[in-house]
Amino acid sequence: TDSDAADEAVRTTCDDATTCKRFATSQGYWKDLHIHYFVRNVGERKAPEINRGYYARVKGVNLLLDEFIKKTECKCQIINLGAGLDTMFWRLKDENLLPQKLFEVDFPAVVAKKIHNIKTKPPLSKPIIDMHSTDSLLLDAHNLDSDRYCIVGADLRDISSLDEKLKKFHLNPELPTLLLSECVLVYMTPSQSSNLVHWAAETFHTAMFINYEQVNMSDRFGQVMIENLQRRQCTLAGVEICQSLDSQKDRFLTTGWDHADALDMMTVYSMLPQQDVARIELLEFLDERELLQQLLQHYCICWASKDKLKMLSILAKI
Ligand code: SAM
Repeated sequence: TDSDAADEAVRTTCDDATTCKRFATSQGYWKDLHIHYFVRNVGERKAPEINRGYYARVKGVNLLLDEFIKKTECKCQIINLGAGLDTMFWRLKDENLLPQKLFEVDFPAVVAKKIHNIKTKPPLSKPIIDMHSTDSLLLDAHNLDSDRYCIVGADLRDISSLDEKLKKFHLNPELPTLLLSECVLVYMTPSQSSNLVHWAAETFHTAMFINYEQVNMSDRFGQVMIENLQRRQCTLAGVEICQSLDSQKDRFLTTGWDHADALDMMTVYSMLPQQDVARIELLEFLDERELLQQLLQHYCICWASKDKLKMLSILAKI
């Protein structure tokens, strides 16, 4: 059906993200010691502004994420919504920042691919097994459940089934919880993504939500971005929330979150540790800085929080 084809097109966006990250890390933008287990080949060269865009995305999101984990002294859980082939588990383990449990959710077909890689590659499976205390590790074609890492196949538009699956794998509503969605909510209608962020606000009393996606989409450049995706059968069903930073924040402020902030990625780029930015700017020559600016002004990080335990205050500003 049309909707199956649309879902399939959305699933392929996961490969885009992974191949772009694979290429950027091969050029030295940042380190990812595990991504090559998911995409073997470096693939074709990407434009320097794309690589810098991914650099800003990864660094910006990790800054907030790591701050949350440190603030809660790892007594927290993370739920990565639409995680794709993200290698966060291995990075956090290597950096001694593993939360009590990391949950990842994606379509069953994407999860099956990720689990297949984990099953067949010891450098991926060994750290999971090492962090697991009993012999009850569940690793079948569609689910992984261990003490510290859980991967679930589910459709994020079906909240009751999502809730049920996460609870089955011992999601703890009492723990401070970080929810993350990178380029995921934009593929859902505004009411579907509202339901999801509302569910999160209802489920946890102390939580933070980090969302990365398109913004400022009503100008000419935004239109071109939309057309490029449509050419690949990929519809940005949630594009009306991508009109402005305010509409991004409103999605959270109207669904039970106490605070929300949003920055476009050009601003984030200018706030990242400038010594490292100077380093990556030497990696590849960029002759038109305007192109970078235009691209980064069309993506944002929005983060929202609710903080009954009053432990997240430092996160109010990057
Ligand atoms: N967050 C990952 C990253 O940044 O590398 C992957 C991003 S990719 C652009 C979007 C991911 O969201 C895909 O893996 C896709 O399968 C997943 N996704 C989108 N809509 C979804 C839904 N309704 N249910 C489950 N997963 C979904």
